[in-house]
Amino acid sequence: MENGLISVDRWAKGSSAYFLTHLHSDHTIGLSSSWSYAPLFCSRLTAKLLPFKFPDFDLSLVRILDTGSWHTLSPSPAFPATLHVFAIDACHCPGSIMLVFRGEFGCRLYTGDFRWEPSCEKARKAREMLVDVVKDDVVDVVYLDNTYSNPIYDFPSRQLAANRIIDIISSHPDHDIIIGINTLGKEDLLLQIARALKIKIWVWPERLQTMHLLGFHDIFTTNTTLTRVRAVPQYSFSIDTLEALNTMRPTIGIMPSALPWVKKSLQKGELLSGSFLTSRFKRGRMSENGVQIDKQIGNTGPLDKFHEYIYSVPYSDHSNFAEIEDFIRLVHPATLKGIVSSSSCYIEPMYYFGRLCRVNQPIRRQLHNMHKRVEAVSPKISFGGDNVKSERNKGKNLKGKFLGVRVSKLSIYRRRQRGVKIVEDNSLDQD
Ligand SMILES: [Zn+2]
Repeated sequence: MENGLISVDRWAKGSSAYFLTHLHSDHTIGLSSSWSYAPLFCSRLTAKLLPFKFPDFDLSLVRILDTGSWHTLSPSPAFPATLHVFAIDACHCPGSIMLVFRGEFGCRLYTGDFRWEPSCEKARKAREMLVDVVKDDVVDVVYLDNTYSNPIYDFPSRQLAANRIIDIISSHPDHDIIIGINTLGKEDLLLQIARALKIKIWVWPERLQTMHLLGFHDIFTTNTTLTRVRAVPQYSFSIDTLEALNTMRPTIGIMPSALPWVKKSLQKGELLSGSFLTSRFKRGRMSENGVQIDKQIGNTGPLDKFHEYIYSVPYSDHSNFAEIEDFIRLVHPATLKGIVSSSSCYIEPMYYFGRLCRVNQPIRRQLHNMHKRVEAVSPKISFGGDNVKSERNKGKNLKGKFLGVRVSKLSIYRRRQRGVKIVEDNSLDQD
């Protein structure tokens, strides 16, 4: 069911306003150049990048949400309620924001994808801003970036991971270097590499245009003769590619990601992101409630060499488990809901973080109560998304898979999912 007042990172018809947290493709499924259902709210930088991703998009629909102040949508024929929204830097990729909503439905916080490291100055300021915004309020629901909401995800800050990547490149002075990146994000990493090693970095032509839009004019190039370091699209980062490159020149690949890769029968031609190994983790015992407890193998630090030619370094634009825990402790919401339903090692976030919520009670009872409360106040308010029942069942299915083969292709799962899963109040009674 898609009807509702607003949608966040969901683009089906039926809402009166739409909010875009950032331009990664798993948050824009359904958005297109011809999309025109209602006003679209996003950060200033996302608005700048939007026409590049969606040429011919009707820019008269775009509304800018600057961070640091409340924005109010007043009732009108097109928008039948009063809504207040506050945007805060999510420190995930250029233009990314998290959103605090206030309205008849109460106060809700949608994190989008975010990384708030204690050592990051930008994140510290964002954190202070959030504290100030919610200090007199109870956050009824946090829609959480639960990508790494499992204690196995104990990876370092981006700064430490970047240092490690620079070390790897420095220790291979005669090698070409291939780094797998997305169409947006990891710019800071590339800048640090360029500065530390005093080199330019090759990117593909569309990515160079994005870099120019972001204001980086001198560091990146599309001329392969100018540098030995190339940032390539993740989809082209494969074992086959690296083996082929090594027949011409010594080359190593670096994948900056904290997602564990899957070790299974590697097929020739299969992409690394769907076929590699998870050597940093091992299967642990089952807990009493059927949750698989994984453990990291030893203290391998931020570096793992997975293959003769490939390193995987957990440079992540998503918060690790401890950072998420800190975040929930800070916000102290009534309840929370994960927005990533098919991440690796999926576990309902309330399992680990419910003790940090105000309503510390079994999930089923809590959801039931929340439904009754929301319905009493405003039955028509909804945040678009799959219903709770289907999402929770997906979670159960994934848990089931943990008993056997590890869930594979998890990075691809994440990109393929249909938008972000958000609680839809009208369906809470279906479970
Ligand atoms: Zn993202």
